[in-house]
Amino acid sequence: MSSDRRGNFLKVKCLDCDNEQVVFDRASSNVQCIICGKTLVKPLGGKAKITAHIDEVLK
Ligand SMILES: [Zn+2]
Repeated sequence: MSSDRRGNFLKVKCLDCDNEQVVFDRASSNVQCIICGKTLVKPLGGKAKITAHIDEVLK
């Protein structure tokens, strides 16, 4: 529970180009794919919305 409150790093895969990238699930600004520029994470005032495939939650 406490780890959820701090947020987690996620390994995600871009839906457009399959690039794998590590993102923070409480990002306060948009995170974009470093390869194709697709938005991977959108901030929603707290927990962010992940708009990519989540491969793994990193602890
Ligand atoms: Zn991409």
